[in-house]
Amino acid sequence: METTSEITIHQCPRCNESHTYQVVFERTQYPYRKELKKSMPAPVKLYYGDDFTCPNEKENFYARYWLEEDTGETIESIVSIHLLKSS
Ligand SMILES: [Zn+2]
Repeated sequence: METTSEITIHQCPRCNESHTYQVVFERTQYPYRKELKKSMPAPVKLYYGDDFTCPNEKENFYARYWLEEDTGETIESIVSIHLLKSS
């Protein structure tokens, strides 16, 4: 199942401006026993790193960001990253 999350880079290392990207990622769901939910740590924050493209300088830069994994799901992979807005 594809899910999207908005990531804002507040200070781009190329141009110092703020850019917001849409990260599309693939997640799968697995069955779990509802009564166990309280003992499972969720949501779990996962730390990722990827190349982003600065729309002003047209250059890539590496940035790290968080995605949240809720109970009963696993983030499998990052599908794509594209710019939503720039300011
Ligand atoms: Zn930039």
